[in-house]
Amino acid sequence: MLHQAVKTETRPPLASGRRTPPALRQCCDNYICPVCEQVVELTDFRQVVWHQRPGHQPMEMDD
Ligand SMILES: [Zn+2]
Repeated sequence: MLHQAVKTETRPPLASGRRTPPALRQCCDNYICPVCEQVVELTDFRQVVWHQRPGHQPMEMDD
């Protein structure tokens, strides 16, 4: 019987629990933008798009 040990190595050693960088506090449906440090609501598409632009400024919010 032929056993190829190389083929079993399919998943990386630390696959779980380390997906988010420390600067990115990811919880539920909002996160802290690493560029402008503003809270981005993932439920608001405008905010998501805004904070994906490199070198942007904090979005002005009217409450
Ligand atoms: Zn931002």
